[in-house]
Amino acid sequence: MPGDSIDLSSDPNPRPASAPAGSKRRDFLGIQFSCCSIYVRIYKNREGTHYEGNCPKCYRAVRFEIGSGGSDSRFYTAY
Ligand SMILES: [Zn+2]
Repeated sequence: MPGDSIDLSSDPNPRPASAPAGSKRRDFLGIQFSCCSIYVRIYKNREGTHYEGNCPKCYRAVRFEIGSGGSDSRFYTAY
């Protein structure tokens, strides 16, 4: 039957095709600072090699190396 495949070109629920492969949204980690019991987000450094941030209360610095696909966890505790 001709015309049966018309649905293929008229997807009523188009996905956002703009998501570029390889870059996931905004890159951050959720960090729980055990020193002050505070949860914050830290972001990638400029080189993209580490996540860096500071405890907002005591300014303790934390740094997490960005693994090469090893761990998918995005939430850590800084002891
Ligand atoms: Zn602290």
